[in-house]
Amino acid sequence: MTSAGIDSGGARSPRPNIVFMMADDHASHAIGSYGSAINETPAIDRLAREGMRFDACFCTNAICSPSRAAILTGTYNHVNGVTTLDTHFDARQPTFPGMLRDAGYQTALIGKWHLGHGGIHDPTGFDYWTVLPDQGEYHDPMFLEAGGRTVVREGYATDLITDLALDWIKARDPGRPFLAMIQHKAPHRSWEPAARHATLFDDGEIPEPATLRDDYVGRATPAVEARMRMRDLSEEDLKGLVPPGLTEDEDLRWRYQRFIKDYLRCVAALDESVGRVLDFLDQMTLAADTVVVYTSDQGFFLGDHGWYDKRFMYEESLRMPLLVRYPREVQAGSTSDAIVLNVDFAQTFLDLAGVEPTRPMQGRSLRPLLNGERPADWRTSMYYRYWMHLDPSHGVRAHRGVRTTRHKLVHYYDPPQEWELFDLQEDPFEMRSLDGDRAHAAAFAELRVALDRLSDEVGDISPTADLGTPRDASR
Ligand code: CA
Repeated sequence: MTSAGIDSGGARSPRPNIVFMMADDHASHAIGSYGSAINETPAIDRLAREGMRFDACFCTNAICSPSRAAILTGTYNHVNGVTTLDTHFDARQPTFPGMLRDAGYQTALIGKWHLGHGGIHDPTGFDYWTVLPDQGEYHDPMFLEAGGRTVVREGYATDLITDLALDWIKARDPGRPFLAMIQHKAPHRSWEPAARHATLFDDGEIPEPATLRDDYVGRATPAVEARMRMRDLSEEDLKGLVPPGLTEDEDLRWRYQRFIKDYLRCVAALDESVGRVLDFLDQMTLAADTVVVYTSDQGFFLGDHGWYDKRFMYEESLRMPLLVRYPREVQAGSTSDAIVLNVDFAQTFLDLAGVEPTRPMQGRSLRPLLNGERPADWRTSMYYRYWMHLDPSHGVRAHRGVRTTRHKLVHYYDPPQEWELFDLQEDPFEMRSLDGDRAHAAAFAELRVALDRLSDEVGDISPTADLGTPRDASR
């Protein structure tokens, strides 16, 4: 294999290296270039300045393992089998790293895997992998490696994952392109910062989100039922007891500050990691030939709607940050508001590498968008499904939904069925569902048809069909 190919213009262009950096639960509204009001991320922002920022990147199921399976396989969760946190990934199925490896790429996975381990659940398609078991630890974490080996490494997870990735890139064969998947644990719960960031943000308060005191009036009952409120944070989450004698609102404020400061301290180390990777690529003169991606497996509620965590199809959780730098094809400082999905990533990387997928995939390559061209038939709606009905720890009901550029329809399909309809232009924080509002009945009907159409298109089985409810029945 050579590392050079022929592009459509006939000139030799190298097959790019791919550095894929993924955080766990890093919401885009905690990134400077996405307009964060609560922190600064100068290194991640450099990617936005030198590449493209996607403003409408969404996950198809806002929970860790399912999103990771969607990214690796380019398929929806009912196809790749990882619908919940408890359904481990069958790693014998084809993934884009394996396809790149078969095409001559050197491949490595460092950090969080979270798709099960042992036997058919271990990572495949990688020349080298070292991963945290399950959620892993922030401090002095253990890593799992091929052959069932375990290694305990002293230090902070974000730093160690970065060190290991840079060491691997240094030691690679420079004659062949590489894929390095750098998958951080941070800033996932339990939000444990590095020692050097322990007192960051101690001076002053982090601004509160507009919806911190949401009373859930105007939403369906799942919003009321969910156990992800500030009051649901444990002593362990908060690293201490709430001071006695606080009023209800003081209690809320105290909990929010404790939670968000630790979350943002974890993000500070992530940003440093991104800075180290970018500096390293500069020093190795690899920047021009390397696609660099920063993303997160889903978004997160940062006190929005009074919550932490994700799972719901509401914007803060649905939205993924996605920044892509590739100087050969992507204009610096560009943005795209096209709807793009986690299931698109695999085909994008294969396309950039000039490799044909060896299994049917369900996304679409983002390469035209990266090149500044939006195909006329680009999607204007997306399908979502969260399967974990009333999971005991967070109490979020299973649902599916459709999001268009303007609206969102959410269907809580287990009995008693409920719906939510939002006009995202008029109500960007999704505070008032228009379900049942006669003035919006036409939009509801149209979106309901779209939901079933999208479900059919991706081959999902309608959960209401499971319930024996005719799909064309009036609600
Ligand atoms: Ca996650």
